Parts: sequence; structure tokens; C-alpha cells
Amino acid sequence: MTVRTRVAPSPTGDPHVGTAYVALINFLFAKKHAGKFLLRIEDTDQARSTRESEHAILESLRWLGLSWDEGPDIGGPHGPYRQSERSAIYTKYIDELLAAGNAFECFCSPERLEEMRVAQRAAKQPSRYDGLCAGLSAEEKRAHKAQGDPFVVRLKVPGDGVCVVQDERRGAIEIEWKSVDMQVLMKSDGLPTYHLANVVDDHLMEITHVIRGEEWVSSAPKHLLLYSYFGWEAPKLIHLPLLRNPDKSKLSKRKNPTGILFYQRMGYLPEALMNFLGLLASSHGEGDEMMSLDTLCERFDLAHISMGGPVFDVAKLDWLNGRYLREGLTGAEFLGRIGQWGFTPERIERIAALAQPRVERLSDLGPFLAFFFAGRLAVTAEDLRAGKLADLEMRQAFALAQMEFDALAGWTIAAIDAGLKRIAGALGKKLRDVMRPFYVAITGSPTSVPLYDAMEILGRDIVRERLRMALELLGKPSAKELEEWRKLLPPEAPADIVA
Ligand code: GLU
Repeated sequence: MTVRTRVAPSPTGDPHVGTAYVALINFLFAKKHAGKFLLRIEDTDQARSTRESEHAILESLRWLGLSWDEGPDIGGPHGPYRQSERSAIYTKYIDELLAAGNAFECFCSPERLEEMRVAQRAAKQPSRYDGLCAGLSAEEKRAHKAQGDPFVVRLKVPGDGVCVVQDERRGAIEIEWKSVDMQVLMKSDGLPTYHLANVVDDHLMEITHVIRGEEWVSSAPKHLLLYSYFGWEAPKLIHLPLLRNPDKSKLSKRKNPTGILFYQRMGYLPEALMNFLGLLASSHGEGDEMMSLDTLCERFDLAHISMGGPVFDVAKLDWLNGRYLREGLTGAEFLGRIGQWGFTPERIERIAALAQPRVERLSDLGPFLAFFFAGRLAVTAEDLRAGKLADLEMRQAFALAQMEFDALAGWTIAAIDAGLKRIAGALGKKLRDVMRPFYVAITGSPTSVPLYDAMEILGRDIVRERLRMALELLGKPSAKELEEWRKLLPPEAPADIVA
């Protein structure tokens, strides 16, 4: 048997270090066993998936030094590797499930489902479809269809008993069938949901080992049920523990940057980040910790994957990255890396065009533009306070900006402008007054090159981090404050994602 593994990201946001971690482990496991590693794009959530996100994910994984044997960019014998291009394949399997009585058509309206949910919540029951449509007669279904009622297809789930999920590292995990929802497998537009597409593709792509994050354990019973309904052998399952912040909470961008692009823009070397992620995966720490991908592969053993919630400790990454910069590169290579990192001709050209109308001597450029090439800025709370907004208003503006910016489909000047205008409107302030503390937080000074250009060039991750640092100076918002402040924003979607 040839080992075949895959990473199956959903292209719904910026590339995440967790995706790189899962990809690396799948890559190492496949290479260790002379197998194949695939990349599949799971874009069944059409509303949230974008090609920009897909592109950024592929680019980041490539930047990190990973390569795949089959994927949407290079093709392969089991393609297409993008689920949105495989719709016809899934329809066939939905028909098979319906014909065998292992799935059923559900005509329940959103209102009925909502009523059901409210009643379940009130009765403190888990939220789960109640099975009403599973009992419809052929006559009733025909009548619904004759009326043109929209319907979804749901999975039939056993009423009682337990499902035993055999995890290669965790052992047997028992999950009661009554806690498993009658999952929607096909939406009313005829497109599959993640669960159906994931199982069909893993089978057709001959995946032997599914290695993924532990957030998917609760989905495993649905998947195992589908494998058994189709009469297919299920792949081996391994659920990895989630990466943690140093305080052991789940790695989240509120506490720690999680975007691969952030680490790239901060000047971490891909080989250092990869090495760091490899160390997180391995619980045995002998010998030199500075290791190439080849050495990580040689030493890789699934049995040694740490199951204790590996801590994404940036201090350790800093140490490792420093070693790579000092010991891993010749002077010429170091110079080359500086260029690739932040001094590309296109970037310099844009920055120079912004600076030219604003300088009197070339030597003004250094202090004026240093923020483009810096990580965290030496800004104080007093620097932020010199404008017209009170502390609370600045904290609200920064926190709302983080929410707005995270929700933007694209990082463009127009989208940034629309976001800041919405925030000024929500706070009832002049845009000019709101922009001032942003200038300070992001460029280090109340006057600089145009703010939106600066933000676009810096990238979303660095901007997010600088706003996070500013919030730390003024007082980090509590979860309760965030919830309340969120309500200040008008409900409509940010400008650039309205169709
Ligand atoms: N598309 C899922 C994700 O984004 C993949 C889960 C899996 O590996 O089965 O994480």
C-alpha cells in the first residue's frame, strides 16, 4: 500500500500557521513512507471561499518549502483538486445514498428549523435536526417537489448506540449516535457540504491517512457512517492537538499573530519557521534543534507526535530564526534574503513614489520610512493620546478596525477606506480625528506618507499586529467590551464583499 496523505484547506481567509503545521505533518509522514502528499482545496462554502485566499495559501506553503505531488496547480491522476470543480461527482453519490435510504430529502423551512432550535435551547437539549422529514411518504415528497419547495439532503443517523472512532494516536473515542446531527450533505442549490465532499474525495483520491486538527473529531462519526454506507474502507484517522498560546489557550489572533504572512513580513526565514513547526510536532528533543526539512523527515515518527497541545512560543521561534540568520547563511545569502524580504524593486518603487513629494533631503527618508521595514514600533500611550479621541474611543476604533479588516475579502485601499469610514460613522467622529491615532499606531508618527497606502503596503497582518500593540498600551478590551462594541457597527457587510 502506498501511503497517501493530504492537506485540505478551505480558502476562506489568510493562510494560518495551523494549516502549515498540519500540512507539514502530512508531508513528513508521506515522505517518510515514500508516499504521496496531496493538496486539495475545500471550497464548498462558496460564500466565504475566494481565489485570493487559495492563491495566498498555496504561495505561503510553497514559501515554507513544502511541495505536493498532486494539487489544483499541478493536477494529477485524481483531479480536479478543487471541490467546486467536482460537483457532478458528488451528485452521483448523493443519488446513491438516497436510493439506498441512507439519506433523505428535507423540506423544512428556515423558520421551522429556527423554531426547533429555540425550543431545543429552552429545553437545554443539544441542537439537532429532529428527523421530521425522514418519515415523509413518497406522496408527500412528490407534493413538495410539485410545489417547487426547496430541499436539502440529510444523512440518516442511527437513533441509539455509540460510534467508536478509532484514532491512531488517541485510541478508541466513543461518541453517542444521539449526539450526532443528521448532517446536511447537499444544500438546496445542489452543492455538497464539506462532510460529503471530504469523504468522497478522500476515497476517490485514495487517501490512506487523514491527519487533521482535533476540531474534526466530532465530525468523524458522520464521516465513518458515510464510508460504511458506501461500503468503502475508511482511511486511518489521526487528530492532532491544536496549537496553543503560551497561556495554553487555543492559538488565536487576539493573543498571537497566526498568519503565515505575518511571520514572513516580520522577517522570519521560511526554513526557521518550518523547523520550529517541526519541533512542535515532535515530543523527543535530543540533539541539535536546528534541522532541515530532510532531517525532520528522517526523524519523523507519528508515534512521537506530541499530543499535549504544543505551545506556539514566539520567543523560541525568535531564537531559532536568529540562529538561521547568523549561522545558516553566508554574507551573500544574507544580503539576498534582505532583498527578498522587504526590499523588492516593486515595493521600493511604491514607497519611493509616496515619499518623493514629502522630503527635502534624501537623508529624510530613513526616519520617515523606517516603519515600513520595522516589526513593532516604539510607540507610547502618550503618543496615541495627543489627538482628539478619548482613550475609550481609540480602543473602540482599534478593536472595530480589527473586526472590519478581518472581514474584508481583499486588502485594498478602497476596502480600508470604507472600513475606516464605517468606524468613524459608528463612533460619530470625524474621519480625520479617527485617522490620527491610526497614523501613530501604524506608522509611528501623526504625519507620514498617506495612511491607506502605507497600510496596504504593510499588509493586513502587520497592521493587525500594530493595532494589537496599540490596544495593549491603552488597555486590552475584554470579551464583554468587544461584544458590546461590535453592536456599534452598522449590520451591513463591508463594502468590498457586497455582491
Ligand atoms: N477543509 C477542512 C479544513 O479547512 C479540512 C478538514 C480535514 O482535513 O478533513 O480544515
